[in-house]
Amino acid sequence: MAVVETTFIGASVATENAWHNAQQQFDDAAELLGLEPDLRDVLREPKRELSVHFPVKMDNGHVQMFQGYRVQHNLGRGPAKGGIRYHQDVSLDEVRALAMWMTWKCAIADLPFGGAKGGVIVDPHKLSAGELERLTRRFASEISVLIGPEKDIPAPDVNTTPQMMAWIMDTISMAKGYSVPAVVTGKPLSVGGSAGRNAATGRGCMIVGMEACRKLGIEPSRATVAVQGFGNAGSIAAGLMQGKGFTIVAVSDSRGGIQNRAGLDVAAVIAHKQRTGSVVGFPGSEPVSNMALLELPVDVLIPAALESQITASNAGEIKAKLILEAANGPTTPDADAILAKRGITVIPDVVANAGGVTVSYFEWVQDIQSFFWEEDEVNAKLERVMVKAFNTTWDMAKKHNVPVRLGAYLVAVSRVADATRVRGIYP
Ligand code: GLU
Repeated sequence: MAVVETTFIGASVATENAWHNAQQQFDDAAELLGLEPDLRDVLREPKRELSVHFPVKMDNGHVQMFQGYRVQHNLGRGPAKGGIRYHQDVSLDEVRALAMWMTWKCAIADLPFGGAKGGVIVDPHKLSAGELERLTRRFASEISVLIGPEKDIPAPDVNTTPQMMAWIMDTISMAKGYSVPAVVTGKPLSVGGSAGRNAATGRGCMIVGMEACRKLGIEPSRATVAVQGFGNAGSIAAGLMQGKGFTIVAVSDSRGGIQNRAGLDVAAVIAHKQRTGSVVGFPGSEPVSNMALLELPVDVLIPAALESQITASNAGEIKAKLILEAANGPTTPDADAILAKRGITVIPDVVANAGGVTVSYFEWVQDIQSFFWEEDEVNAKLERVMVKAFNTTWDMAKKHNVPVRLGAYLVAVSRVADATRVRGIYP
């Protein structure tokens, strides 16, 4: 197993290679399904990988080169779908893993999409707004050979925003000579975004969390929650779970974490972060590191940051009964085995954070029809999809007496395999 050194949030942690982990998760499911060897070979590799080097004019007048990727893992069930992330640690292997996870996520939610992901190696906090716009437009232009409403539809991911999606939409539209809103999702409402999209990942996580708590006998009004990562997914999930009666006792972001056993007022923490740039220093809270947060004595743990945070080295110390993966790939396969042995339930990323891509699908449908829905309609449809995805996955896991992640993979891989089998191998 390739071990690389990744820097996360001030702490340096040894993590396994995300792509090898993704392939291992797939192999475990393929084995249990008894998938034909030929089909295994097809599904365990990405279909297309585009690597681009591109120049951006910086504010100081110099030109800086950047590197980015767009990987399409699978197109069997429809156009490729998946976000674009900006992060200094982006690598081709990370984007491959994220693209494969999108394939399974879309299949579990039963969306007519395959999986893709994009990434640019950049710390966006070091760039000005103008530099970020030029970088986003140039990257959009570089990957325009792959993306399009009927081919591959990007969306936000770590460190990318609705404003950036508007720049992508505008860049593609300028080249075409007319507006192409359905080329990207997660856009602002004024250019064809969907009501409810911004909160959708966090809302989906809350919906699935409520379902899981019902199964496990966790009563929200008596349950505590810790959230690692306070971006779009983590902060919104925390706020919505507080609204359901949970006590949010700790949250963190890339600069550090805060805790208060009596509970944090999530709306006030969001306001503090907007003012100061971080949750750190929130009045009335004690500091806690990102790694220590994972081991707090809570009922529910929500990793909502990056991959490989829960590994073989800390899985034995986790005290939560339930882990809801708002992030993609936060738990490594080795950690999964330890958590399963310890009776800790993990609701995997491909279910717990599928709310984002589900409302992205609704946005794409609305853009294509030029007919837009009210937010309550979007939220009701989201709830139906999430509850169904959760129950299908849960029942599959119980039927085979396996962890929920493997149950989810059994559902996803067999759906994608069915599509591949019935289409046949070309030519
Ligand atoms: N980046 C999100 C995810 O990992 C959303 C992707 C999308 O909406 O296409 O699921």
